[in-house]
Amino acid sequence: TTAATPTGGGFVVHANPAPVPDEAREAELVAPRFGTVFTDHMARVSWDEARGWHDRRVEAYGPLQMDPASAVLHYAQEIFEGLKAYRHADGSVWSFRPQANAARLARSAARLALPVLPEEDFLASIEALVRQDLAWVPSGEETSLYLRPFMYASEAFLGVRASRQVEYLVIASPVGPYFAQGVHPVAIWVSDDYRRAAPGGTGAAKCGGNYAASLLPQQEASARGFDQVCYLDATTGTTLEELGGMNVVVVHADGTVRTPALNGSILEGVTRSSILRLLADAGHAVEEAPVLLADLVAGLADGSVTEVFACGTAAVVTPIGRLAGAGFDHVVGDGTAGAVTMRIREQLTDIQYGRAADPHGWMHRL
Ligand code: PMP
Repeated sequence: TTAATPTGGGFVVHANPAPVPDEAREAELVAPRFGTVFTDHMARVSWDEARGWHDRRVEAYGPLQMDPASAVLHYAQEIFEGLKAYRHADGSVWSFRPQANAARLARSAARLALPVLPEEDFLASIEALVRQDLAWVPSGEETSLYLRPFMYASEAFLGVRASRQVEYLVIASPVGPYFAQGVHPVAIWVSDDYRRAAPGGTGAAKCGGNYAASLLPQQEASARGFDQVCYLDATTGTTLEELGGMNVVVVHADGTVRTPALNGSILEGVTRSSILRLLADAGHAVEEAPVLLADLVAGLADGSVTEVFACGTAAVVTPIGRLAGAGFDHVVGDGTAGAVTMRIREQLTDIQYGRAADPHGWMHRL
């Protein structure tokens, strides 16, 4: 039997009786590959109609037992989040705007007819897991512990209706610097034949199905020699929406920064909103408005668009060096990472890693 220890947030810790030995863990932390290695524990909360959220616990990381009729396996009633825990120079560990991830999970839950997990439970689940697995938070430059909260329909029932039983879990995976060889620009294929999201659909929710649908377009773009796909709006096919897992931002020669407005089919990135705030603080004119593909292509041709970048939790800020699609193929700027792109990347990571002041109170100590 393992000792059960209650935490402040009501999570009971059932410590893993066979954690990874210290030496093996330290070896894993040297150069972890994204999403391949997981910590000793996971946080978990169960839900059913009668009891609501119950049985808050931290337990040994391991396989889930699942009925083959579990609703998630058939109808994809599932949502997730992604955020990181950062180790600062003094050894303390922090997350970045976790309240924003809690709010987005709640919005995703509403769209997928899943129960809303209260913000305090979301924060407590992350705190309880990271505190239990604190030794798994790496300390190398631009390393972090990636946190993956997710929620799925666990009821064994093949009827198409909202599940009456749900599981919420958080797993954690140490990650190395996204760009091991230094930040380098990516090539983007603007898809004309696939749409990511439609008005009234699930584009603004972080649900697994959105990512399942992105795999084929991604494969086709890779086969053409591109790194990622950028999607257009489903109604007119004339405005940019976002990449499969990142938002997109355009920088103009006069310093104006523009990103597609949240129109109900774009995922509201935490990185996106943070960067827009920091750019506005720095004096940039910031516009959230439709970005016409034709305008962007013309701007790349005449030099009025100087930089394009993608942003998201995993890669923070990724310069886009080439943008192509049916009938166009442009190098962005001189094809290397632009000054505004690199400056905002550094500003944001300086806050996240505690190298700079946190002017907006974004950091949350774990
Ligand atoms: N768009 C999509 C489709 C995504 O999956 C992500 C990653 N969560 C983002 C944008 C960026 O969001 P964030 O900055 O919160 O990671």
